Amino acid sequence: MLSKDQCVACGHKGTVTFTNRSFAIAHKYVTADVHGISGVECSHPECKEIVFNPDDGSAVRYSESLDRLIARYRGHEMRRIRGKLGLTQKQMVERVCGGGHNAVSRYEKGEICVPTPLWVLIVLLDKKPELLAELSMKI
Ligand SMILES: [Zn+2]
Repeated sequence: MLSKDQCVACGHKGTVTFTNRSFAIAHKYVTADVHGISGVECSHPECKEIVFNPDDGSAVRYSESLDRLIARYRGHEMRRIRGKLGLTQKQMVERVCGGGHNAVSRYEKGEICVPTPLWVLIVLLDKKPELLAELSMKI
C-alpha cells in the first residue's frame, strides 16, 4: 500500500503538489500549451512522474488538449497527403473517406479528429500513392 506522499511509479517517498502549472505538449510537429494544471510530481530526479489532479478537471483538460493536438496534426497531414494525391476535398470524400461533403474540410481544420481506421488508410496512401487507383467508395 502506497502512502499519500509516495510516487505511484517508482515508490520514492517524496511527492510535491503543484497548482496552476503550464505544460508544453507536442505531437510530431504540432505543439500547444495547457495552462492551469494541478497535480503531484515525484521529487526523485530520475523519475519526475506526474499525476494530474482528477478532482479539479486537470487530468481531463490535459487529455482533451492532447486529443485536439492529434486532431490538428492528422488534419494537417490529411491536407498535405490529399494534395500529394492530387484530389479535391470532394474527390477525397468520394474516393477515400466517404461521409458528408464537409467531412474532409472539418478533418483538415482539426474540428473533428480523423478516425483511426481512416487515418491508417491515409498513411498507407502517403507511403504508397499508387494504391489510390485501387480505391473507390462507389464499389
Ligand atoms: Zn517516482
